[in-house]
Amino acid sequence: MAYHLSLLAMQIANDSVVSIDYELKNDAGEVLDASAEGSPLVYLHGHRNLISGLEQVLEGKATGDSLKVRIAPADAYGEVNESLRQRVPKDRFQGVEQLEVGMQFQASTDKGPISVRIVAVEEELVTVDGNHPLAGEHLNFNVTVCDVRAAEESEIAHGHVHGKGGVEH
Ligand code: ZN
Repeated sequence: MAYHLSLLAMQIANDSVVSIDYELKNDAGEVLDASAEGSPLVYLHGHRNLISGLEQVLEGKATGDSLKVRIAPADAYGEVNESLRQRVPKDRFQGVEQLEVGMQFQASTDKGPISVRIVAVEEELVTVDGNHPLAGEHLNFNVTVCDVRAAEESEIAHGHVHGKGGVEH
């Protein structure tokens, strides 16, 4: 009997370093984000570097696999929390000449500082929203796995990827 050997593709699991090409659309079909051509997103799997819904569907996949998935808000950026949307008087924004929709501020709350953005500007009042801009949205991903490798010990210790597509330290 002669062996005929073919290399088994490495499957995505905790502590895999994974490269993916992706495109993200909302339910209206608008492209919200995408990896640049020839420059995939590289991340360390199992360390909360991606939204949980996307990590779940990538688990067990291998190089060359493509998937299309619709992720509910609970597994993405959460539901909209109305209490994080508040109208505040303009005079609370000290030292800012012109208040405009989209500007971001740090707000102090009883649960610590949160990042908020202006969503409406009226005569006397400004509405700020501390929800993630994608809160309440279903996310539609087209993903192709470009590469899977085992992480180095230092990457696992740091919780992120080093080298190409990662960070310096
Ligand atoms: Zn590091």
